[in-house]
Amino acid sequence: MTEPLQSTSVSSTTATAAPSGFVEKTPLERYLPPAKPSLVGLSRAQLTEALATVGVAAAQRKMRVQQIWHWLYVRGAPDFAAMTSVSKELRAALAAQFTLARPEVVAEQISADGTRKWLLRLGDGHSAERPHEVECVYIPEADRGTLCLSTQVGCTLTCSFCHTGTQRLVRNLTPGEIVGQIMVARDRLDDWLGAARPAGEIAVASSAVGQRMRQGGQRLVSNIVMMGMGEPLYNFEAVRDALLIAADGEGIAISKRRITLSTSGVVPNIARAGAEIGCMLAVSLHAVRDELRNELVPLNRKYPINQLLDACRKYPGLSNARRITFEYVMLKDVNDSLAEAKELVKLLAGIPAKINLIPFNPWPGTKYECSDWERIENFSEIIFNAGYASPVRTPRGRDILAACGQLKSASEKLSARERLALRAMAMTD
Ligand code: SAH
Ligand code: SF4
Repeated sequence: MTEPLQSTSVSSTTATAAPSGFVEKTPLERYLPPAKPSLVGLSRAQLTEALATVGVAAAQRKMRVQQIWHWLYVRGAPDFAAMTSVSKELRAALAAQFTLARPEVVAEQISADGTRKWLLRLGDGHSAERPHEVECVYIPEADRGTLCLSTQVGCTLTCSFCHTGTQRLVRNLTPGEIVGQIMVARDRLDDWLGAARPAGEIAVASSAVGQRMRQGGQRLVSNIVMMGMGEPLYNFEAVRDALLIAADGEGIAISKRRITLSTSGVVPNIARAGAEIGCMLAVSLHAVRDELRNELVPLNRKYPINQLLDACRKYPGLSNARRITFEYVMLKDVNDSLAEAKELVKLLAGIPAKINLIPFNPWPGTKYECSDWERIENFSEIIFNAGYASPVRTPRGRDILAACGQLKSASEKLSARERLALRAMAMTD
């Protein structure tokens, strides 16, 4: 193969950068593929191509793709040796040219309530001298388990309250690195389909097999939110390709209704997300007037609130059953007055919406503080009285860690506030 299997594509929106340094930072770094590429994150068409390069006959490729897809995304095979329904010769040929590598876990934090946060090192050509790292978080709830994925190392945007926005280094993740985060979570949570299965059944993986539930309920990872590091709509193609793999019914099989993409407001790509991915949408609004939003989310200078809300109104598939989530970070004495709560309700009138109030998560050097708890409650009440679900909740202090009991190390716990912010992001009603 002459071309790397996975290459990042910089969205045209990023390439036509905005007014000098105002809205966006320096250009993106390029992805340097490792010597041996991973099969994780390839589309079926790319996987077919990869099989052709190791000499699989054309007539066999479709069936082999089915087998490998199943081993990768239903069973979570860590290496080719695990693929027992694939001939030894083919396994050896694949192993000579490819890996099944996912990002490497370099740190794991487990909170008392079961929230887990992984620091992941990416296996690209940069890793020796300056490793690229991203975070991925798993948030368990009674009725779901939400995985929060990163889409970029850092972020080219510069939201003033966001720590990621202060990072200098920026690189788009590849589809493999985005799907790889789901793989890591399922690895660490032992969340793959585990039962031994006769080879014949594996060879014809059906969607029923792909969607089989864990005993006693659904998979631990049942929902995905694109709310980690980075702006997903500035890495559109890779995010789209990764989410189409995540939603594939014969593999990871997470329904598009359980996948939410959060954007700071990249207006031209909102319609594309609806048309080409078909996932749920969350919009980081954070302010009700352009003047303030320009300061908090500088991308607003390029795409002001009225354009953003227009794109939301036109979002494909929007209905009361498929609402847009508007995120609103609670910043003390900045955007948290009760008048602003009322304006927020007015602004969103007519859009099927949920409003997620996120307690500000402070970081060293930030000029902002989180609103007082009482203020958040009063703000939330205005929204609730206007007919929206009131999503901010105190942590229930539930400790499901012992029940899961998969992991021994609890190196560091997340702070209560961090947990709360994550919980708000988990879209719990
Ligand atoms: N770039 C995308 C998605 C990642 S950020 C976006 O901006 O939507 C996910 C959410 O966390 C966004 O709503 C973002 O505004 C919010 N956020 C960023 N920094 C935060 C902080 N310090 N405290 C609370 N929420 C924060
Ligand atoms: Fe942070 Fe999202 Fe803004 Fe990027 S777009 S700086 S990740 S809040």
